[in-house]
Amino acid sequence: MSTTRAWGTPAAHAPLAPMTVERRAPGAHDVAIDVLFCGVCHSDIHQARDEWGGAMFPMVPGHEIVGRVTRVGSAASKFHVGDLVGVGCMVDSCRACGPCGEGLEQFCEAGPAFTYNGTEMDRTTPTFGGYATHVVVDERYVVRVPDGLDPAGAAPLLCAGITTYSPLRQWNVKAGDRVGVVGLGGLGHMAVKLAKSMGAEVTVLSTSASKEADARRLGADHFKVTTDAASLESVRGKLNFIIDTVSAQHEYGPYLGLLAVRGTMVVVGVPPTPSAVPAFALIGGNRRLAGSLIGGIAETQEMLDHCAKHGIVSDVEVISIEKINEAYERVLKSDVRYRFVIDLASLRDAG
Ligand code: NAP
Ligand code: ZN
Ligand code: ZN
Repeated sequence: MSTTRAWGTPAAHAPLAPMTVERRAPGAHDVAIDVLFCGVCHSDIHQARDEWGGAMFPMVPGHEIVGRVTRVGSAASKFHVGDLVGVGCMVDSCRACGPCGEGLEQFCEAGPAFTYNGTEMDRTTPTFGGYATHVVVDERYVVRVPDGLDPAGAAPLLCAGITTYSPLRQWNVKAGDRVGVVGLGGLGHMAVKLAKSMGAEVTVLSTSASKEADARRLGADHFKVTTDAASLESVRGKLNFIIDTVSAQHEYGPYLGLLAVRGTMVVVGVPPTPSAVPAFALIGGNRRLAGSLIGGIAETQEMLDHCAKHGIVSDVEVISIEKINEAYERVLKSDVRYRFVIDLASLRDAG
């Protein structure tokens, strides 16, 4: 065991503050990782504030981890000391069930070990995330960060990247497809970049008129302000695929109306309260409403390799750990361009 410096919260609605957590000594299949950067996902806020229910405290959030391997276990062969690696939302699963066998570890029938706000597979030992100086993770749940990707910009790929890449791939988005991205935040801006890299024509659907120039710089072909119903008329019935990344309560009906015949809207945003779905919005045009949860480990590696090939990283604002509570407030105001990333040197070097 080793004591690790971290920032976390003792209870819902308490601000994040310094704390220490215990990490296990690396076992045979483990790697020990010095965390360099950790992205700040809106899911961190939902969970630290127990907005989804069932949160476990104390909690150290953080599941967009990039770091360097400092030790490898006796049976670990995938990585060497010094390798730049990533850890996303999961740190273990049963490796025996159907979903695990299909590379869908996020749907492990035993329940995966989530990186924080969960337990190891023993269902007893709590897991603590990447707002910390180091982590110890089974190498089978660690991915390689390809050369050429900026480590800070790569961190958000571990959740925002895979969560948007996976549905774009599942629905086979390709050149010429018209894709709508609802919400231009951490996930949304990655969806724009990734959909463009697959050749799609991208429309950003945003509540923030001030984000138009950024949307176009990120690669979007069109920008619509969703609070202005008239601005949506030009895309009504036109989009083949929509990815909804919105974190707060909103109606799905108006977006479903933008889908072409047999178009699909995939929900990835997780507002704490449910929305009604009008049946007419689905049956007209045989439209489909679906969901998607992060992605498996192999697919996460595939996504990182895709990003390296296409020169894609997240647009980040790097912060010191002391700024984390302020960063949460800015995320809640949709004032993030487009992902906060914690530089863990600020914790490692703190007196
Ligand atoms: P984020 O950076 O806060 O982005 C969310 C965006 O949603 C905001 O930038 C804003 O974009 C829009 N928005 C916010 N409030 C809104 C409202 N009341 N009505 C309409 N639009 C609103 O959050 P994120 O980190 O991208 O995460 C987004 C959601 O995905 C969260 O709920 C998170 O928990 C969830 N998530 C899901 C998965 C998964 O596996 N499915 C993985 C990671 C995260 P505009 O300013 O452009 O309107
Ligand atoms: Zn996340
Ligand atoms: Zn399993």
